[in-house]
Amino acid sequence: MSLVVVGSLAFDTIETPYGRRERIVGGSCTYFSLAASFFTRPKIVGVVGEDFPRETISLFEKKGIDIQGLKIVPGKTFHWEGRYGNDPNQRTTVKTELNVFKDFKPQLPSDYQSADLVFLANIDPDLQDDILAQVKKPKLVAMDTINLWIQSKPGSLLKVLEKVDMFFANEEEIKMLTQETNLIKAGKKLLLKGPSFVAIKKGEHGALVMGKDFIFSVLAHPCEEVIDPTGAGDSFGGGFMGYLDKVKSFSHKEIRRAAVFGSVLASFTIEDFGVERLKSLSLPEIEHRFLQFKKLVSF
Ligand code: AMP
Repeated sequence: MSLVVVGSLAFDTIETPYGRRERIVGGSCTYFSLAASFFTRPKIVGVVGEDFPRETISLFEKKGIDIQGLKIVPGKTFHWEGRYGNDPNQRTTVKTELNVFKDFKPQLPSDYQSADLVFLANIDPDLQDDILAQVKKPKLVAMDTINLWIQSKPGSLLKVLEKVDMFFANEEEIKMLTQETNLIKAGKKLLLKGPSFVAIKKGEHGALVMGKDFIFSVLAHPCEEVIDPTGAGDSFGGGFMGYLDKVKSFSHKEIRRAAVFGSVLASFTIEDFGVERLKSLSLPEIEHRFLQFKKLVSF
């Protein structure tokens, strides 16, 4: 099968209790594709300015990520600035500068159009819709979002939501979107809007995947020091979708395992700033932590 992901490639300025990093490489597509690359060869769609580091593009290639859909244009790369306090689940967006994303009109390369799995990572919902329209017969479409789009483009977001099979969002975003405080009620409300599955990311409390006759809860890896939570959600999505692409099945059993792999990938991302941990990560480390997750919940 094949997996296409559209999302942001970014410079992030991040402040956490462990320090501050200026303009390090980030973005939803970046985290997602690096995480998915442990299972499959994701095809990325996005745009960067000429200031985006060549080494990162070489890293993508080294990891087997297909970059045909990555446009490099004159101008500045998307920039996001976020701050975390002592609670890693709470973040404040200080700045979002769309830059080259403002005029991005994505055109999918022809072999991307026959993708089986599509992940619409957090990006303007109108762009998500544009991309989706170009994929011929996807078997599974998933989307993610971020509070900026829930607040600024709720209509466009709901339009995409109707067309997807799986919705990924964090607890805060789901509550904002549904105006519900109870996660189960919120999940059920979203299941009525189109998707067959909703994956609710709960930071240090793991994730909950809900379907019409399905509910699965996965823990987060017990971690004492969350250095930088940025990208945990996208790494969860990348591990999840990358695994499904590899096993070529969407059975409930594989969806459960995908959620565990998603949680495993997220647990590595938060161990260092930006994508540093994903860069040095190996498959045996992933498999080892997968088994640790199993031990954690068997009784
Ligand atoms: P998360 O997995 O939710 O922590 O996603 C964090 C990533 O999302 C960061 O690397 C940002 O560059 C990116 N990001 C933040 N805001 C936006 C936005 N409005 N649109 C697209 N990407 C964003």
